[in-house]
Amino acid sequence: MTDSSEPSQARQRVLARIAAACGAVGRNSGSVSLLAVSKLQSVDKIQALYNEGHRAFGENYVQEAVEKVDAMAGLAGIEWHLIGPLQSNKTRDVASRMSWVHSVDRLKIAERLSQQRDPTLPPLNVCAQVNISGEASKSGVAPDDALRLCTQIATLPNLRLRGLMGMPEPGIGAAPTRSQFELLRGLFEALQAQQPQVDTLSMGMSDDMEIAIACGSTMVRVGTALFGARPKREGILQ
Ligand SMILES: *Cc1c(COP(=O)(O)O)cnc(C)c1O
Repeated sequence: MTDSSEPSQARQRVLARIAAACGAVGRNSGSVSLLAVSKLQSVDKIQALYNEGHRAFGENYVQEAVEKVDAMAGLAGIEWHLIGPLQSNKTRDVASRMSWVHSVDRLKIAERLSQQRDPTLPPLNVCAQVNISGEASKSGVAPDDALRLCTQIATLPNLRLRGLMGMPEPGIGAAPTRSQFELLRGLFEALQAQQPQVDTLSMGMSDDMEIAIACGSTMVRVGTALFGARPKREGILQ
């Protein structure tokens, strides 16, 4: 399923899974986009997927992301998304390198990104990350506070509020996974009622993308199914 030596076949398989999952619930497959999660994967593997026509890549760790963005700056149309936790002392590195940040979980981070975004660039696309699993260890704004945070983000210059991101608790089985995705979908619908411009419900990964798509995801973030198992964190960039 995840033969990392065949990026093209892996991408076709993931796109086929997305299409099948959409078909199963009567959705158009064009309504779900694929973010390739390249954290801990080499620049060569990213380049290979880029050569297949893929453009949107997601990274988790700011330092690694900065190095990759700068190393691959010559690739026309490449689009970088930060999907991992963001501390306020790292916002400057992110603000003008990334096209998207999915992991904004407090106003201070959004304000800094807005201040530090080069205003001559298009606005930085932002999703609020919601802690849908309720695990204390997980980042994300509490569900009850998510809409207020979004209202505040929407007023900031140089940012464009796109929607919500969330991750279910791993390994809990299909039905609880579904209910955590449903929680995020409910918040997204409430947000859309207030902010009709939002269009992105970022949920679903290699193991749960079908459930996420059935629950309304518009962007799945897929790593392992595209690139194979991730190498260990240390030493990846040498
Ligand atoms: C690593 C990661 C993914 C991709 O996970 P896979 O199981 O490898 O598809 C998606 N989203 C976030 C936030 C991640 O950290």
